[in-house]
Amino acid sequence: MDIKQNIQQIRNDFPLLSQTVYGKPLVYMDNGATTQKPKVVIDAINDLHASKNASIHRGVHFLSEQMTEMYENARRRVQQFINAEHSQEIIFTSGTTGSINTIAFSFGEQFVKAGDEIIVSGIEHHSNIVPWQMLCERKNAKLRVIPFSDSGELLMDEYKKLLSSKTKLVAVNHVSNALGTINPIKEIIDLAHEVDAYVLIDGAQGIQHGNVDVQQLDCDFYVFSGHKIYGPTGIGVMYGKEKLLYQMPPYQGGGDMVECVSFEKTIYNQLPFKFEAGTSNYIGAIGMTTAIDYIESLGIADIAKYENELLQYATKRLSEIDGLRIYGTAANKISILSFLVGNIHPYDMGMILDKMGIAVRTGTHCAMPLMDKYEIEGTIRASLVFYNTIEEVDRLAEGILKAKSMLE
Ligand code: PMP
Repeated sequence: MDIKQNIQQIRNDFPLLSQTVYGKPLVYMDNGATTQKPKVVIDAINDLHASKNASIHRGVHFLSEQMTEMYENARRRVQQFINAEHSQEIIFTSGTTGSINTIAFSFGEQFVKAGDEIIVSGIEHHSNIVPWQMLCERKNAKLRVIPFSDSGELLMDEYKKLLSSKTKLVAVNHVSNALGTINPIKEIIDLAHEVDAYVLIDGAQGIQHGNVDVQQLDCDFYVFSGHKIYGPTGIGVMYGKEKLLYQMPPYQGGGDMVECVSFEKTIYNQLPFKFEAGTSNYIGAIGMTTAIDYIESLGIADIAKYENELLQYATKRLSEIDGLRIYGTAANKISILSFLVGNIHPYDMGMILDKMGIAVRTGTHCAMPLMDKYEIEGTIRASLVFYNTIEEVDRLAEGILKAKSMLE
């Protein structure tokens, strides 16, 4: 779909966007943190609660069987969305953080031993750093870090030097939430496989911006969150290659993840249920696939094209502002603008923009090591998606200029 031509109709799909904040029309540019939900998703979740709710897998009654079927259809829909080979390779979790912690514990238990190395990059979200630090501590393994350039691009030659027979896993993001950099993940994956290391891709910011094909990428794990792709919170996906998931022990024990329990011996359930202990967020999973249907109906490539137009325009507008510095200028990036203006504290700028109805994020964006490298405390981040407009970018630029004149 031509997004630009249909922008008003698309914006009408998102009820939240039409409100005013402090009497000003809302400009929502905090999409990197979470995205707004189209009415189809809100309605689907409402309907599930209103007329279809029943706990899955354990019931013989109509509603339970119906919900079980819808949940398993959601799994197949995600399988198709990322082109996984088998539906049991799709594990529903609470989100990206839930998925990474599951893998860090479960993969770590089975595959990581003292002296092994885990490689992350310098532009990771804390969610893709801390679980690996915890694993390294438990196992006496070592965390290695891929450095990055001033523009926010990973130094691939340095990455190659870090890889060795000790490397057990490489965990990098598809797209940086703080800078917008799109990482060369295919190359990262292939290089890791040359030394027999496994690869996890944190797709929290990547899944919605490109057609992800896990078989073509050949990644061992790919994880993402529902709430960043216009779906509900509290749901996410952990994709893993079947042969790995088979070998990995469960992360949490409880109902649904077992086939048979006695005090002498418990037999775990098969995939994917082995990793889905407790009552699953089945309504979230189905709601997330409604969101996937929605973005696919707009066209992922068309979304990327329009968002890139927004990025080019916003980069130009913001660069014209005296004293404004953009962090993250990779050649290949998504529509995220992280910036500082003169000596103005990001928090002050964010507060004033807020009073103008403009929602941006300020701070470290859960990427403190990245801020350390630039020797800054944080940035102001405007993350734009397909429901943002050129006029909103103008309002942002005008807002920054006004705040600057007030604060300097
Ligand atoms: N990784 C990246 C790159 C992210 O942007 C985020 C969310 N900001 C996460 C991980 C964590 O996602 P969640 O909070 O949904 O688990």
